Amino acid sequence: MEEFQKLWEQIKAKLQIILDEDVYNETFAGITSVFKIVNNYVYLVAPNSFIKGKIESFYLNRLNGMLNELVQEKHMFKIITKEQAAEELAKAPYTVNSPEQGLADKYKTGLNNSYTFENFVVGASNRLAYTSAIKVADQPGVISNPLYIFGEVGLGKTHLMQCVGNYILENDVNKKVLYVKTDQFIEDYAKASVKKTFDEFSKKYENVDILLVDDIQFLAGKNQSQLEFFKIFEKLKENNKQIVITSDRPATELYDIMSRLTSRFSWGLSVDINRPSLDHRIQILKKKLQAETSDPELVPDNVLEYVASIFDNNVRELEGALKRVLFYCTAFDYKFTTTNAEEALKNLINTKKISNSAMANGNFNAVLDIVSSYYHITTSDLLSNKRTKQYVYPRQVSMYILKEVYDLTYKKIGQIFNDKDHSTVIYSIEQIANDMQTDKDKKTDIEKLLIKCGKKA
Ligand code: ADP
Ligand code: MG
Repeated sequence: MEEFQKLWEQIKAKLQIILDEDVYNETFAGITSVFKIVNNYVYLVAPNSFIKGKIESFYLNRLNGMLNELVQEKHMFKIITKEQAAEELAKAPYTVNSPEQGLADKYKTGLNNSYTFENFVVGASNRLAYTSAIKVADQPGVISNPLYIFGEVGLGKTHLMQCVGNYILENDVNKKVLYVKTDQFIEDYAKASVKKTFDEFSKKYENVDILLVDDIQFLAGKNQSQLEFFKIFEKLKENNKQIVITSDRPATELYDIMSRLTSRFSWGLSVDINRPSLDHRIQILKKKLQAETSDPELVPDNVLEYVASIFDNNVRELEGALKRVLFYCTAFDYKFTTTNAEEALKNLINTKKISNSAMANGNFNAVLDIVSSYYHITTSDLLSNKRTKQYVYPRQVSMYILKEVYDLTYKKIGQIFNDKDHSTVIYSIEQIANDMQTDKDKKTDIEKLLIKCGKKA
């Protein structure tokens, strides 16, 4: 803060030289101090909206250029009026530098304020998602509505979605942002149904400027909640309120969600996040290290590289591994070497090895996991004798896959599924084979699953 105060004074001194005296006096002389710094935005307070507008239209680029000659990390000026500053101070008197907390209470945003664009590390795997999110945060409701972010677990979808909310709030304390996990939405709706408090429910979801809905795939099979979400979606969209959605798969592959909803998810912009490269993972570790320790040089590069080389498909795991190494070496006062890191991560590495080789070694749990998570049921339901369609169909699909990909005997497949008779297995597999010939959607679904379960494309 102090540093920026000094920088602002330097910039003012320069302006005084470059600009006409009148212009300088009218426009800049009255801006004395830096109000706050949030997410690389340096806030200046203009005496009124006229001067704010003038600076924004004519001088902002030049000011930003001057600022970035003086600082290493990219920063930008943001101009607010005296009124806006006063309003902010009145609302969050204790937290000028991070007003999120006060706000979180006010609107119950559901946001975690540590998820910011600044600590999101950008690389090839997430660049498009990142730039789209920034654009949406900058002009909510205008550019891409909804913004649909998809990708595998642990790759930063929730983080990025929350950045949008946090950013919007930082720039306009009066915006109503609501972040909700899909589970929570379903639960809220169920509660409203029981208690007949639909008004309250609608108010919570419809009176917002930005709605962030995380992991939409969990709407699968929940018809009532889907209908309700549809209504909310329509309403918000109609009023140009921004909607951001995340999912573990593209909208076209959502299972058991009504098509009028999934088709709307594709109206705006769909972006995916992929697995980060080795170099990207190392950068992520460095960023996390900055947050975790006071000495970012504490862990040498070769150790970071070692950790990044092992944890290659999930940033959450990568982060967990780093924390473990930090804890292990600090607690026992060991040096940060690859040997010690390996020791710290022994258990994690073993579990990882086991799950990787599970398929190769004929442990078919992986197939069962993939199929059950695809259809949003538990593995134990998949293996059970429950007769409802919701379970029977995925069970038949699993059997089909075990035959197609691993060529197990009918008997062996029967044994996996709670000792089913081999004729049941044959019947199930035939059913699916039939479906594949008659139902194009099911065929596409199953073909994807076959590949996920190890069938060579
Ligand atoms: P998802 O919602 O896709 O399952 P999350 O957003 O929960 O993943 O991310 C998992 C963890 O990894 C979080 O702690 C998040 O901060 C971190 N993370 C993921 N991607 C990045 C990134 N590009 N830069 C920094 N941290 C990241
Ligand atoms: Mg998530």
